Amino acid sequence: MTPITRLMQGAALAVLMTGAAAAQDFPERAVTLVIPFAAGGSTDVVGRIVAEKMSAQLGQQVIVQNVGGAGGSLGAGQVARAEPDGYTILMGTVATHALNPLILTQKPYDPVADFAPVSLLVVVPNVLAVNPELGVDTVQELIDLAKSEPLAYASSGNGTPLHLSGELFKSMAGIDLTHIPYQGSGPALTDVLGNQVPIIFDNLPSASSHIAAGSLKALGVTTTERAASFPDVPTIAETLPGYETYTWNALFAPAGTPAEVVAALNEAAVAAMADAEVVSRMEGFSATIVASSPEELGAHVAAEMAKWEPVVTEADVRLD
Ligand code: GLU
Repeated sequence: MTPITRLMQGAALAVLMTGAAAAQDFPERAVTLVIPFAAGGSTDVVGRIVAEKMSAQLGQQVIVQNVGGAGGSLGAGQVARAEPDGYTILMGTVATHALNPLILTQKPYDPVADFAPVSLLVVVPNVLAVNPELGVDTVQELIDLAKSEPLAYASSGNGTPLHLSGELFKSMAGIDLTHIPYQGSGPALTDVLGNQVPIIFDNLPSASSHIAAGSLKALGVTTTERAASFPDVPTIAETLPGYETYTWNALFAPAGTPAEVVAALNEAAVAAMADAEVVSRMEGFSATIVASSPEELGAHVAAEMAKWEPVVTEADVRLD
């Protein structure tokens, strides 16, 4: 071995050892949790609750950064390209890791190859709700009204489960509705509450407080079972049999993040989801806590991509 080769081997070993030591000491500083939607949406609501409890578990701040736009793909793309050291992680959703890749023409990341799964956190129902001024009380009344006049619905963006919920609804009900995409449910809610747009498909974590206050009227939940927190709200499937959508939230790190770092993040996330306050907040949203292993999340992403592909094709989901 030449002295140069020996020197290069020594340098490579030093880099490896520094990386291993860094992984063992993780986290030594604040972690940034990228929320790929605007503030006030479901991903933001769930993300902030989880970030607070993970901060306590990790002994370092988990700082939320909202990077909305393009159905969550801008924020997800940012994390895909971040340093794989665990200090930049993503609150992913069914949008970023199953639907965007099926619906969007611009694909700024690969949902499988570019990420290290950390933990599937929750599965949440979506809801069809209207501004009370619209004067409809049921899913059937909304369908009848849409047959007699042009109506629009707001969603958290192209390629999101709320976009899919609206397009699947149109296709199964045999009606037309104009889709108005926003950078997240936060700004979409603002316009529906202000009656600029009469209808919204939203997730229960962001819509619940407005439904409870009476400022939004929930016509139907998108899951096959009614939501325990709103037992009087029917499922859309009670009017349109077979209708189903939902959302989930999961943590992802960039691909190449050391296994010890992924394990530390997973441990903190699982502990956060077992916290009594988190359990009670999630119950209030009818969100089902999963708190999976990284391997289970990897399998979940693959299953969800396969599940939604025929639905996206059948509902003919297009960009607006
Ligand atoms: N509605 C969500 C939000 O604005 C994003 C879409 C989803 O994945 O459900 O946070």
